[in-house]
Amino acid sequence: MADQLREYCGLFGIHNHPNAARNVFLGLYALQHRGQEGAGIVSADGVRTYGHHGMGLVSQIYNPESLGKLHGSLAIGHNRYSTTGQPTLTNIQPLLVDCKIGKMALAHNGNLVNALEKRKEMEQDGSIFATTMDSEVILHLIARSQEPRVEDMIVDAVRQVNGAYSLLLMTKDRLMGARDPLGLRPLCVGRLGESVILTSESCALDIIGAEYVRDVKPGELVVVDERGITSIQAEESTAQAKCIFEFIYFSRPDSIVFGENVDKVRRKLGVVLARNHPVSAEVVIAVPDSSNTSSLGFAQESGIPFELGLIRNHYVGRTFIQPEQSLRDGDVRVKFNPVRGILNRKRVVVVDDSIVRGSTMKKLVRMLRKTGVKEVHLRICSPPIRFPCFYGIDMPERRELIASFQSVGEIQEYLNVDSLEYLSMEDLRSVVDDPENFCYACFNGQYQVPLSTPLRKAVFEETAA
Ligand code: SF4
Repeated sequence: MADQLREYCGLFGIHNHPNAARNVFLGLYALQHRGQEGAGIVSADGVRTYGHHGMGLVSQIYNPESLGKLHGSLAIGHNRYSTTGQPTLTNIQPLLVDCKIGKMALAHNGNLVNALEKRKEMEQDGSIFATTMDSEVILHLIARSQEPRVEDMIVDAVRQVNGAYSLLLMTKDRLMGARDPLGLRPLCVGRLGESVILTSESCALDIIGAEYVRDVKPGELVVVDERGITSIQAEESTAQAKCIFEFIYFSRPDSIVFGENVDKVRRKLGVVLARNHPVSAEVVIAVPDSSNTSSLGFAQESGIPFELGLIRNHYVGRTFIQPEQSLRDGDVRVKFNPVRGILNRKRVVVVDDSIVRGSTMKKLVRMLRKTGVKEVHLRICSPPIRFPCFYGIDMPERRELIASFQSVGEIQEYLNVDSLEYLSMEDLRSVVDDPENFCYACFNGQYQVPLSTPLRKAVFEETAA
């Protein structure tokens, strides 16, 4: 659905496991929500590297035969949703290159704000790029480094890029992971017996029976080889800006992200929303699935019963043929269906994580009213989104974000709901233990990695004009 925020990528890497590729496959399967456009796995047996990439869902790309060809005890994988590059097979990661240290593979979650500038500089210098992705810039910087050791080459490279990155890197015998100094995107360390895992969310550890150990620290480079885990502080981290949207929407509720249980934080969002924006109603429903947990928090705090009033069809794929234009709200109907017996003639609280353009919510409300809902009270588990994200989340331009040009009252009228309340910034900050260590730029426009002049202009001047 065009009106939805999307995470860019999921990462999973494992060192020292006889079935490395198979475990990466399972990890990527658990991280499918972080990218559904394509996936790739690269493995190594100490001598050679092997790769298999494809378009579509992880379960569509891999089978026992293709996984059987990915030999070795070391592997990394990546789930992708199209970002700065085009959605083609050449842009599916991990990227695999030959450089002076031999084969090297890289998988990236995030977005570099100075990638274009760096790329232009290197092209002037004679570099040839094989993809349109910002991630390739990092590989070029590593390959061009004059440092003698591979870990120092990586440190040299990451110090030259700005923006959001959680990285997995792999040589023929080493697994490495790095996080940007603000820690914008997640990356954690897990263990399964003698094997070490690096991944975006802990739900990918659970699927293979591994244990969560800790987060990779902001600015840290973790090197895993036969000697164990070595930690290098690649960049100084004086402030943090972890993406608060990982808790609101992106991460799975059964994950530990940024060292916190997502379910716990997401439930608190609903509790605070109910406490500060009460309403007289008979039923609380979620817009499934991302709002299920926060709706439970809302119901618990308000005392209004939670019901499964909207059923989501989970099988609407990327290439789904949309119903005829003439079928009003057809795109929403294929995804959600209201349960008439629960909703008819009721005063209903609808809990959702966020509103982007507002077009999907407008259709959903129209569908609920047609079902016989008497009153619709919309409660949103985030402040209004007024600014785009440049740190790895797919968001429309500022002028398309409804809250950037309409007041809450106007949005209420546009959506045709009986009441509309958002979480305040203060409420949002209250659900985490260390609120000063989070990014809130899509709500308040305070970008912690400075934007380039053209981007700043596009966000703050052209929209204002
Ligand atoms: S701008 Fe919003 S979505 Fe992007 S990193 Fe910051 S909090 Fe997350």
